[in-house]
Amino acid sequence: MPLRIGIDLGGTKIEGIVIDGSREAARLRVDTPRGDYGATLGAIAAAVDALERQTATGATVGIGIPGTISPSTGLVKNANSAWLIGRPLQTDLERRLERPVRVANDANCFAISEATDGAAEGADVVFGVIVGTGVGGGITVKGRIISGPNRIAGEWGHNPLPWPDSEDEPRLCYCGKQGCIETFLSGPGFSADHEAVAGVRLDPAEIVEAADRGDAAAEQTLRRYERRMARALASIINILDPDVIVLGGGMSNIDRLYTNVPRLWGRFVFAAEGDVESRLLTRLDSARHGDTSGVRGAAWLWPDAAMEPQA
Ligand SMILES: [Zn+2]
Repeated sequence: MPLRIGIDLGGTKIEGIVIDGSREAARLRVDTPRGDYGATLGAIAAAVDALERQTATGATVGIGIPGTISPSTGLVKNANSAWLIGRPLQTDLERRLERPVRVANDANCFAISEATDGAAEGADVVFGVIVGTGVGGGITVKGRIISGPNRIAGEWGHNPLPWPDSEDEPRLCYCGKQGCIETFLSGPGFSADHEAVAGVRLDPAEIVEAADRGDAAAEQTLRRYERRMARALASIINILDPDVIVLGGGMSNIDRLYTNVPRLWGRFVFAAEGDVESRLLTRLDSARHGDTSGVRGAAWLWPDAAMEPQA
């Protein structure tokens, strides 16, 4: 049984893990050399080396990145870590590590982790959502990532918020468009919405605490957030009809989402008027592996147990 190394290349941290089946055998975390591509390659190679020394064995290597590798050019695209854009990250790492390396978007890694041995284990169709600093998504079908010819499958964060009403004033997104789901459902979007209505700048955890204490404005901000998430996920259910939607990222720590959002999304999911079938079978669940889902999913980019380990 080969060991699997997963590396999650984040904007501030590089996380590494070794898993032996589902068991974590080693882990490390180093700062990302921001802005320096050569140093980033070096840091990843050093992390792989250190993990292999800790476990005294060779392993497969999967990498999650905040972006994706363009299938037409082999270069990184859509990364919010700008120093990676346009770089041949995969071939550079393969040369350094002297083995094939698999690279995928971090939201896809999250989805494959939760679909493999997480909250959606055994489910056929899974939509994995990251609601944190940004909003990303990944789709797995029978445990395999559906990435698409453009490698953008699941990127619902840059669709417009569906069924908008008067409280959903569109805001400019960093992608250049107006009213993207990310501008409402990301942590910064949640804080900005509270500030716009209540006039107070709070971080997401503070807003949730205030609502728990009975603060009416914070409660209203949370309700707007829940209504928006319900509509945004209803449009996913209409297209993909997943068995499970798993939430990860900082905003996924808000417990009440798991009761309130499914209570709201039914009225937006397609049903002809008068239909008696009313119970939706899609489940909304929180990530079982929490913050380690991304790095575990990177390791699971090599799912085939029969594959030979390579050192
Ligand atoms: Zn956008």
